[in-house]
Amino acid sequence: MSMEESGKVVKFLHKVLVVGDHGVGKTNLINRLVHNEFTPEYNATDAVNFSNKVMQISPDKVVYLQLWDIAEQDRYESNTSMYFKFTSGAFAVFDSSRPDTLDSVTKWKNEIDSEVHFKKSKETPIPFILLANKTDLDKNAIDPSQLDQYCKDYGFVKWFETSAKDNINVEEAVNYLVKSIFETEAQVRDNPDEESNSGDADDKATSDNESSDEESDLSDIDDQSTSDSDSSDDESDSDDANEQEKTDKESSDDKTC
Ligand code: GDP
Repeated sequence: MSMEESGKVVKFLHKVLVVGDHGVGKTNLINRLVHNEFTPEYNATDAVNFSNKVMQISPDKVVYLQLWDIAEQDRYESNTSMYFKFTSGAFAVFDSSRPDTLDSVTKWKNEIDSEVHFKKSKETPIPFILLANKTDLDKNAIDPSQLDQYCKDYGFVKWFETSAKDNINVEEAVNYLVKSIFETEAQVRDNPDEESNSGDADDKATSDNESSDEESDLSDIDDQSTSDSDSSDDESDSDDANEQEKTDKESSDDKTC
């Protein structure tokens, strides 16, 4: 009997960072994704917030994405590396009408790559997607070949022109990131080396009643965040998400995003 027939739904939790200069549209991209909302006024993000996006990627698989909005000033005012732990993927955002905001993306990318590796791997970087936001302001602001080259040079899996305002490419970008996370997971598991702690791969499969080590680790982060920062309204949803069982082994079979 398939999982679908038996009514069993496998749930996955992935933490995703959203980084970039202030004012590039990180908060609005997350609000568009999670609440389908856009706010024209600028309210500077003064703390690290997270929100949950629930994605039904197939009849028997649901992904809970925990989107962490990390403001530029946090890089200087707090120990940002504590927010990088247990991250599965990231969006780096710049404002396509202000090309200088790409400089901040480069800094974030270098910093995160040096501190974070995919799950238990010691060398595989997390999948990173570049978002050239506010494309509604000037459709010609982007030079695609330049961005292709930039992505190659800095190791981004892909870039998208987005508009949180007009809801352009926001869902597409998140679908692509989820697909990349599952692919990276399969890649790390299928090409084990001494660096990637291959022996743990099978151990990561969890049953209905168990939760993996990683989940407990994420719960710890949630607790930390709750006490350390103004978390978003979605915080309680996050606790629910952390209670979901996760079957890493099965996740690699999924290519349906
Ligand atoms: P953050 O500091 O990176 O989180 O940026 P915000 O999401 O707070 O956005 C900063 C400003 O840019 C706000 O006034 C938003 O309304 C505006 N903004 C965000 N995304 C877009 C977009 O796609 N198009 C346009 N035209 N404005 C945007």
